[in-house]
Amino acid sequence: MRTTSNRFPESADAALTDATLQASLEQVRHVMPQIRSAATAQCDDFAQLCDRAADIRRTSIGALDRLLETFERAVVASGGHVHWARDGDEATRIVTGICAASGARRVIKSKSMVTEEIELNAALEVAGYEVTETDLGEYIIQLRGEKPSHILAPSLHVTLAQVGETFHARHGIERDAPPTDADEMLMEARRVLRDRFLDADVGITGANLLIADTGGAVIVTNEGNADLAMILPDTHIVVTGIEKVVASLPDAGAILKVLARSAIGERMANYTTFVHGPRQDGEAAGPENYHVVLVDNGRSDMLGSPFHDMLRCIRCSACLNHCPVYTAVGGHAYGSVYSGPMGAVLTPAFAGLPATFHLPQASTLCGRCAAVCPVGIPLPALLRSWRERAFDRSLTPAGERVGLRAWCFVNRRPFWYRAVTALTRTILRGRSVRDSDGRRWIRRLPGFAAAWTAARDLPAPAAHSFQSLWRQRRARRSP
Ligand code: SF4
Repeated sequence: MRTTSNRFPESADAALTDATLQASLEQVRHVMPQIRSAATAQCDDFAQLCDRAADIRRTSIGALDRLLETFERAVVASGGHVHWARDGDEATRIVTGICAASGARRVIKSKSMVTEEIELNAALEVAGYEVTETDLGEYIIQLRGEKPSHILAPSLHVTLAQVGETFHARHGIERDAPPTDADEMLMEARRVLRDRFLDADVGITGANLLIADTGGAVIVTNEGNADLAMILPDTHIVVTGIEKVVASLPDAGAILKVLARSAIGERMANYTTFVHGPRQDGEAAGPENYHVVLVDNGRSDMLGSPFHDMLRCIRCSACLNHCPVYTAVGGHAYGSVYSGPMGAVLTPAFAGLPATFHLPQASTLCGRCAAVCPVGIPLPALLRSWRERAFDRSLTPAGERVGLRAWCFVNRRPFWYRAVTALTRTILRGRSVRDSDGRRWIRRLPGFAAAWTAARDLPAPAAHSFQSLWRQRRARRSP
C-alpha cells in the first residue's frame, strides 16, 4: 500500500488554508454527527445493538481461520471460486488473471476501499483494461484523477461547480458552459454510466460482510450501482479483506442494524444485496462466473497484536465524521485511502510505521471516535500504542522525545511536579492578556510551543491549581 502519510504536517497545513475544502468539511462537522445522533435516538436499544455487533465481530475475528474455510467451502459448493491473496500485488495479479481468462476488455466497479488499498484500478489499466467506477462519488474522482477523501463519500472535497467543470471537460458534450444544476449532472452521469454497465465484461465489487455458513457476500450501497455491476456482466469478482467474515445470516443482520445508522443516519441503506455464487439453472439474472478474492495485505499480522481489535472495523465512517482532526483537514492530508482515527490505526499496520508515524499523532485523544464506534474499537488506546512504538523506535522528532522524557521524569516525582507546574503557571499567567470578558489568553508562546499559538490563542492556566484549591477546601472544612 503506497502512502504519502509522512507529509501529513505539510498536507494538514495546506488543508487548513484551503477555503473550498473547509466549506465541504463544514458539512461533515455539523451535518453528519446530527444525523447519526437523530438516528440512534430513534432507536431505543442502540447501545445494546452496538454491544451485540461488537460481540459478533470479536467472536468472528477470534475464529477467522475456521470461518474463512467454511465460507470457501460454501462458495465452491455454489459453483464459485475463492482466491487467497497474501498482499496487494498478489490480489491485483489474481484479478487481472481472471479478467484475462474471461477475455474481458471493459471492467466496471462499485466502490470498494480494499480495491483502493491495493490500487487495483492502476493495475488493471496497465494491463490494458478500460475501468469505470460506477459509484457517483468514485466516478467523479476517477475523472479528476484523485483519491477518495472519505471512506463513504469519496468526492466529499469536490464542490458542485467543480463536478460541473469536470463533466464539461470529460464527457465531450457540446454546450456553452459547464452544467450547474445537480439534477442535470446526475442524469448526465447516469446516461454515461448506463452504457458502461451494458458494455462491461467484468463487474468488480467489494463486500461489507461475508457469511461463512451460506458463502454469501453482503454488499450495501445507496445507488444500486453494485447490483448492476454484479448482475449485468458475465463475470463478477468480489474483492474484500479477510476480516469481513461473520458466522451466519443472523450475525450479518445484527451488524447491518448498526452499520447504516452509524454511517448515514438511516435504519438501512437503500440497497442491501446478498450474493451467493454464479447464476444457477432457472435463474433469470446473474453472472456466469463468480470469484471471491480474499485479501490479507497485513491483516493476519494484526491478529493477536496490540492492534487486533481494529480488525472489528465495519468501515461505517462514524469515527471520521466525529473527529476534530479529520473534520479540520479532510481525508487527503492523511496520504492514505483510510483516513481519520480508523485510518491512523490501519495505515501504519498496512504500510509500516516508518512511512506513517505522523498519523497516530494526528489525534487529540478526545475519545469521540471510540464513543461513536458501533463495534467498540478502543481507537485512542490503539493510537497510543502506535505512538509508543514510534517513540521506542526513535521515529518521533528528537525535540519531542526530549520533551516527553522530561515530562515523564517530572510526572513521576511529586516535588518536581508541583515545582515545575507552579513555575510554568506563574510564567504563563505573566505572559497572558485579559480579553473583554475578563478571560486570560496567551497570544504567543516561544520555541517549539510557538506552533500552537501560530494559529490560535492558548487559554491561560487558572490562578490556583486543583491541588491547592483542594487543600484550601479541606482546611476550611476541618474543625
Ligand atoms: S473504527 Fe469504528 S467508527 Fe471507525 S469506521 Fe471502523 S467501525 Fe466505524
